[in-house]
Amino acid sequence: MPYMCVPEIFLDANATTPVLPEISQIMQRLCCNQFGNPSSSHLAGAMPKRIIADARKAAAQVFNVVDGRFIFNSGATEGINTAVLSVLAEYTGQNRKNAILLYGATEHKAVPEALKHWNHVLGVNAELLAIPVLADGALDIQFIAKHAPNALILCTMGANNETGVIQDLQAIARAIGGKDKQLPWLVDSVQVLGKVPLDLGALPIDYATFSAHKLYGPKGTGCLFIREGAPYTPLQQGGGQEHGERGGTENVAGIAALARIFDWLLDPQQSPLQAMDTLAGYREELLLALKNLFPNLVLNQPYPESLPTTINFSVPGFESGKIIAIFDSAGIRVSAGSACSKGKPQSFVLKAMGLQDWQCEGAIRLSFGPASSAEFIQMAAARINAMADRLNNLDEAERSGLWVPDPLNVGFAVYADETSKSLYYVGNRDRVKTWLNSYFSADEWEQQLLSEGEHKFADFTLKISETGDFCISHEKLGRALSFNNSGVILSSEYLENVETIAPEIVSSGEYSFLDVREPLETCMQEAPKFGAGGWVSQRADWCRLALEFEGNTANQPVVAICRSGGRSLSVAALVRAAGGPNVLSCEGGVTDVVHFLAAKESVI
Ligand code: PLP
Repeated sequence: MPYMCVPEIFLDANATTPVLPEISQIMQRLCCNQFGNPSSSHLAGAMPKRIIADARKAAAQVFNVVDGRFIFNSGATEGINTAVLSVLAEYTGQNRKNAILLYGATEHKAVPEALKHWNHVLGVNAELLAIPVLADGALDIQFIAKHAPNALILCTMGANNETGVIQDLQAIARAIGGKDKQLPWLVDSVQVLGKVPLDLGALPIDYATFSAHKLYGPKGTGCLFIREGAPYTPLQQGGGQEHGERGGTENVAGIAALARIFDWLLDPQQSPLQAMDTLAGYREELLLALKNLFPNLVLNQPYPESLPTTINFSVPGFESGKIIAIFDSAGIRVSAGSACSKGKPQSFVLKAMGLQDWQCEGAIRLSFGPASSAEFIQMAAARINAMADRLNNLDEAERSGLWVPDPLNVGFAVYADETSKSLYYVGNRDRVKTWLNSYFSADEWEQQLLSEGEHKFADFTLKISETGDFCISHEKLGRALSFNNSGVILSSEYLENVETIAPEIVSSGEYSFLDVREPLETCMQEAPKFGAGGWVSQRADWCRLALEFEGNTANQPVVAICRSGGRSLSVAALVRAAGGPNVLSCEGGVTDVVHFLAAKESVI
């Protein structure tokens, strides 16, 4: 049977964008042909020097700058650090305990981290104060006005990377005194570039930061705007480049890429970037498809007021990791926009907006670049609609038998007896109840907590100790797994000793597969099932598998396979820990194997 590679659909443009061919050609020319050092006094340095000067002029034109300058650097993180250092350097060693450093609660991490770092390193010791946001993600303007007199710096953003919320910079400017303001103001402008016009001539912003890779340029390139008269301290010193304001040989190819981006912004007719209303139409098309896939999705952003290239949503009953996994399986890359807090991944941006926990834990960000074509959006929408069809055709999972829902994290097990409609369970009560209630209707199934002692279910024996730890054994096969509150007790030796195998070798056809992905992932992407066997096991079933699995009779090696190589390692280790046969682990995921198979069969 031939295997088909589905082309990747990248819908994570707020994280980064590809370098467009037009830009890569410019960069290649500068790296390979016009590669002179702009500081050289011979002729090879002349062209790169001119490129940098032209790029600076173009930046000033794009942002309508009359009294300020641009410094080319490695991107927004460097720009943010430079701006913060520049402002706080004036207070070095002053221990300003009564002063505050004001920043938006939904800023990119680079902002509070830079503030914390320089505040400490320079001995300023001011208090970091997060400006709250309202339910629509807009900064609380009154809060800013109230605290501005006591602040050393104000850091806000043009648009948010997770939600696409656009801040009202005019209102912020008014709150801090407009043109006559005293407070240094940094605006992280990364996400507005190419999406929302920024007029630095009309707004009293002192520092603005940009990264080229958010708009089809290379990573590690950007620039910082500095208003005339605003304090400035170089982050790095060296050979006097950038008029002595940033040492180090310039990234000429990167700067030339930025210059081309600025050219596009100056001449929309010659630019691949689409108009706002076109992008808004694209977003609508994608949202329609998403609603077909998840009819009860909830948007986590003001719509349509947010960036027209960003959709942020949650689906009741789905954590973000689960949704990412099914999109990933279908070849669509989206992101969660969440970081771990108190054990569970949660979006601090959505939390700051006061959204409910399930929304913060399940948030998915889907974003596309402003140069996306109508064909690309149609293809993405068609893929999402196809996912909906697959989801609707998914068979109901088997409910009876032994289940250990989250064997590597939580110690609880359930035996579902189909004939008596009884659920016998052991372990962490809150977690088990949530799981049972989401899979088994309380009207149909009776739940029974197992007591200390020994309980027999089909081929399995469950021994529960007085501390609540338990052991599940398969008497006939002489196998057992022990559990405590955190799941299976699995020494690192088991994980370390699993034999791993590269996806290109797995696809040779000499192996049998043990597919350990979740049903929702499997339904989005078929895995190769060739070889003498072909087994499927979802997470809740891994322990039963480890206790029962006997390999295949043809003695063909068995390889566990998942989406990216993590779970296959765990399952192979679990089978070993239970005393089962040797299972190998595929280092890559199903996508890699399919890719190699397709290449071999030339059906790409
Ligand atoms: N600020 C915002 C809003 C961003 O989205 C990002 C990148 O994700 C950054 C700052 C940091 O940019 P870079 O990693 O290019 O320095």
